[in-house]
Amino acid sequence: MPYKAISGIGEFGLIDKIAAIAEPTLHSVPKLMTGIGDDCAVYQLSEELLQVATTDMLVDQVHFDLLTTPLKLLGSKSISVNVSDICAMNALPRYALVSIAVPSSFSVKMIEELYEGMSYAAKEYGLAIAGGDTSSSRSGLVISISMIGEVSTDQITYRSGAKPGELICVSGTLGGSAAGLKLLMREKEIMLEHIENNEPYNKSVMADLKEYSDSIQHQLLPLARIDIVRLLHSKNIRPSSMIDVSDGLSPDLQHICRSSNTGALIHESRIPIHPATRRIADELQDDALTWALAGGEDYQLLFTIPKERYEAIADNKEISVIGETTEMEDGLLLSDIYGMTIDLSSIKGFDHFSS
Ligand code: ADP
Ligand code: MG
Repeated sequence: MPYKAISGIGEFGLIDKIAAIAEPTLHSVPKLMTGIGDDCAVYQLSEELLQVATTDMLVDQVHFDLLTTPLKLLGSKSISVNVSDICAMNALPRYALVSIAVPSSFSVKMIEELYEGMSYAAKEYGLAIAGGDTSSSRSGLVISISMIGEVSTDQITYRSGAKPGELICVSGTLGGSAAGLKLLMREKEIMLEHIENNEPYNKSVMADLKEYSDSIQHQLLPLARIDIVRLLHSKNIRPSSMIDVSDGLSPDLQHICRSSNTGALIHESRIPIHPATRRIADELQDDALTWALAGGEDYQLLFTIPKERYEAIADNKEISVIGETTEMEDGLLLSDIYGMTIDLSSIKGFDHFSS
């Protein structure tokens, strides 16, 4: 067979191939309601209760850089990114299994800090760290967390339930995490330049990051929107579809539309971009809308609900209506502030294998 580089099919092409090989295994477990393709796998525990399970990996130099990432925050983030996938099913987290591969140059204190961050976040979300695995690593630090959650059968929310003519909602703000990452990368460049030139460390060459702290926090310490899940439960609202915005609004909305066989029309003017993010984009001569659409790592919840159900959450300032689902043939469109429509399917998020 001729050599075929993974970059030729991309991350999602690769997952499709994996899914095709794994597919026959699904049939031997009739209580598995959903396998590959949603934010979590779903397993039926009883008539009323479902278990949801997800796993996410953070790899040094791929997902984080220890030059700009305190280990405590990294620990907290590694828990939050998993909780976010549990929340995307309208579920609540219960426990996590944490595996780490650690370079032997690390100190005990470093790993303690990592776990203090994890433990802090776990307490905030009300979940237990209940096991894991430990290995040495010949390259960088790798953190892999699997998480189990629960949801009732009448609250479970898949990516696939949207219908044309429903409202598309998103929680919080978008683009902040990408802004934070760009700032941290800029500071790292400055730091490395100084080291390369053998210049003594001089704090004054570094920007005062206080004014950017909000965006940096979005990048280093994202919070999963468990508050939105609790709100939906308390109002007895089950979205027709939901996903967490980990790759960017555009690719994640594409996931919902593809799973639900709908199109979508969203409006640029309604996308909740944080004001600080716009300011930072101007400063770095970049584009805040692009960060919101394709930057990723915002960990907000993107969901659809029938119009008649919206009333119950209309007064919540943390939820923005950004558009409506349409017929699949109408495609995925963004109406910009000048009234022009842009095809969203051309705006992709981060792909681990794209060249
Ligand atoms: P998310 O961004 O919500 O974490 P991903 O984009 O990582 O989801 O994955 C998409 C789907 O593919 C999920 O259902 C996930 O469980 C599945 N998946 C990803 N990688 C693999 C793999 N190596 N083996 C099996 N399933 C995978
Ligand atoms: Mg997800």
